[in-house]
Amino acid sequence: MKAQPQASHFIDGAYVEDTDGTVIESIYPATGEVIARLHAATPAIIEKAIASAKRAQKEWASWSPAARGRVLKKAAEIMRERNRELSELETLDTGKPIQETIVADPTSGADSFEFFGGIIATAMNGSQIPLGGDWAYTKRVPLGVVVGIGAWNYPQQIACWKGAPALAAGNAMVFKPSEVTPLGALKIAEILIEAGAPKGVYNVIQGDRETGPLLVSHPDVAKVSLTGSVPTGRKVAGAAASQLKHVTMELGGKSPIVVFDDADIESAISGAMLGNFYSTGQVCSNGTRVFVHKAIKEVFLSRLKARTEAILIGDPQDEATQMGPMVSLAQREKVLSYIDKGKAEGATLVTGGGIPNSVTGEGFYIQPTVFADVTDDMTIAREEIFGPVMCVLDFDDEAEVIERANATEFGLSAGVFTADFSRAHRVVDQLEAGTLWINTYNLCPVEIPFGGSKQSGFGRENSAAALEHYSELKTVYVGMGKCEAPY
Ligand code: NAD
Repeated sequence: MKAQPQASHFIDGAYVEDTDGTVIESIYPATGEVIARLHAATPAIIEKAIASAKRAQKEWASWSPAARGRVLKKAAEIMRERNRELSELETLDTGKPIQETIVADPTSGADSFEFFGGIIATAMNGSQIPLGGDWAYTKRVPLGVVVGIGAWNYPQQIACWKGAPALAAGNAMVFKPSEVTPLGALKIAEILIEAGAPKGVYNVIQGDRETGPLLVSHPDVAKVSLTGSVPTGRKVAGAAASQLKHVTMELGGKSPIVVFDDADIESAISGAMLGNFYSTGQVCSNGTRVFVHKAIKEVFLSRLKARTEAILIGDPQDEATQMGPMVSLAQREKVLSYIDKGKAEGATLVTGGGIPNSVTGEGFYIQPTVFADVTDDMTIAREEIFGPVMCVLDFDDEAEVIERANATEFGLSAGVFTADFSRAHRVVDQLEAGTLWINTYNLCPVEIPFGGSKQSGFGRENSAAALEHYSELKTVYVGMGKCEAPY
């Protein structure tokens, strides 16, 4: 199986190679096979990408917002036409089952291009401020060259969720995908050119944790938008702050789902399973601490166990497969070590806990795992695992569960399942998170803002709110009379 792109980078409208860069191997997680070899960007490639973006941005920003919007909407159309091909590539890049990628990856990227392409014609309007005789007006202007740095769990979606609002607002983007999943973003760059974007408006370069800092500290870069872990976020935000650059930080989480005793139990189990097992648990907003009211604990766990054991694990290219492997061997090792800690610290293993017997070969498979009787101080309840490991904790009382749910440095997401709507709103009001769900979980349509609070980051992706993070206000005071001075 091969997925070798024409070259490693896409700059100024064309594929570019520089074999001096360190080799990045793209590994298909279902077999462990190397499916492409690419090169990390050298300093020369970085200069080329940023210079091209800087040139292109001037022209792009001079287009009317509606004209930029037309290009983005065209890109959305092309992505939808090629959904199958792009989804197959995403499956090779990440190991996520085609059943998921066909509905969640290129399609959510296309939604983003379509949404921002649609709203931009009016979303960049400024205001007019009367001041008596004088007056002022504001303009919303792009920042310039912006850098996007991606994680490996949603490579195409992240490339689009950053690219669409950035380009709509009149910026040019240099995007660096994760070194673990280098393939998808190159296709997005190709599609934007096909849709009519000027060369250089969206460049993709490859690289790892050595390459990222070179982009972040480049003097011609006005903003960095990172999707990644909290430790990386601290480094990137620190480096950007030293040059007073704008940042958006989409970081990790340890989000709570609270299931009250009046909840529809099957629905709450669906929410908890979606929020722990989709994409083999590799989703930042996952609700990995599931607080279940003691009165329904037994029935919740027995149904959860049965439904978890029925998940079809296997070949990601088979339409029937519901769960694929983890993205890498290293990530599986990390998750297995957390499972060992859960067992050692006294949590009850309800199901899973190892490598499934049902799949053979060299793939990075792992069983969907549920721990019960988890307490707040256990490592598995405190640290982000980023794999299919659900921790079920018990609670008695509303005030108690809110306090425990908030007792974390993270604040990405939270969910509540209850039939009592005043309780639902009262509880979400007190939960410390950027994105919350009532009686559902992990739905992130482009129309709603997405992002975290506390150590999970700042800035928002999606919705009109994202445009504020890719533009700034320019204020013009217009003096209508003579300029008076006391001197
Ligand atoms: P990571 O932090 O290891 O890497 C993220 C990206 O940052 C990669 O492209 C990497 O090459 C780059 N990078 C690493 N060090 C850097 C540095 N010093 N300067 C600049 N760039 C650097 O994260 P990961 O393992 O790829 O992804 C998993 C993490 O991402 C999890 O913590 C997850 O919660 C988080 N995540 C968050 C969201 C969100 O929207 N909040 C979405 C997906 C994933």
